[in-house]
Amino acid sequence: MATHKTQSTLVVEHLAKSYPTAGEPLQVLSDVSLSLSAGDSLAIVGPSGCGKSTLLQILGTLDVPDHGSVRIDGQDPFALNENQLAGFRNQHVGFIFQDHHLLPQLTVLENILVPALAQGSPRPERFQHAQQLLESVGLADRRGHLPSELSGGERERVAIARALLMRPSLVLADEPTGNLDRRTADSVSELLLDLPTRHGVILVVVTHSHTLASALQQRRELSDGKLKEC
Ligand code: ADP
Ligand code: MG
Repeated sequence: MATHKTQSTLVVEHLAKSYPTAGEPLQVLSDVSLSLSAGDSLAIVGPSGCGKSTLLQILGTLDVPDHGSVRIDGQDPFALNENQLAGFRNQHVGFIFQDHHLLPQLTVLENILVPALAQGSPRPERFQHAQQLLESVGLADRRGHLPSELSGGERERVAIARALLMRPSLVLADEPTGNLDRRTADSVSELLLDLPTRHGVILVVVTHSHTLASALQQRRELSDGKLKEC
């Protein structure tokens, strides 16, 4: 069984982010605050272009805010240098993208192990864990297959397993069911909904699916650069 990071926390205060344009800067986030801990799940909804991916990138420390702070497990990732930040992200954050970002030349099992390669050759425990995760997403018999031999839903399941490999505190999913048909989306959603209790993670999901959003513990709409109750 996974060792849960019961102290997992995500505390975000007064985030602001703008992008430069030829004219006025485009203010995407103006004042975003939230606080979540282990086992919590949050859906972020809102129309295309409102800044959902931008927010997720900042929560995942892939982008830096103009103002405000992010603390993950009590640490300020933006106070770290580039190398430290890459290590921190690897240990604390798992990403699940809509287009899964699997490496086409690697097998399913190898793709799941990719996050461990940052630390050199994966140890036997990692292989075991990867195998367990494969089983938990229902793909134990597909470990040697290439991504091109899988359906869209199966690839998304591999991406979920990969996101969990390093036992992150925070799992971020950006429109994880966006490319899937309804039935496949439902089964991927079920897997996602299990993550906070089964793996003790904080789960933040950007989604256009009402079914998925309403099944998560909390929902906020991103509107005018702020998170609003919805
Ligand atoms: P969403 O995920 O809600 O569709 P995004 O966060 O991707 O929205 O984008 C929000 C706004 O910021 C959009 O208008 C988009 O065009 C703009 N944007 C996103 N990334 C950049 C960037 N790197 N440079 C300039 N503008 C960007
Ligand atoms: Mg987006």
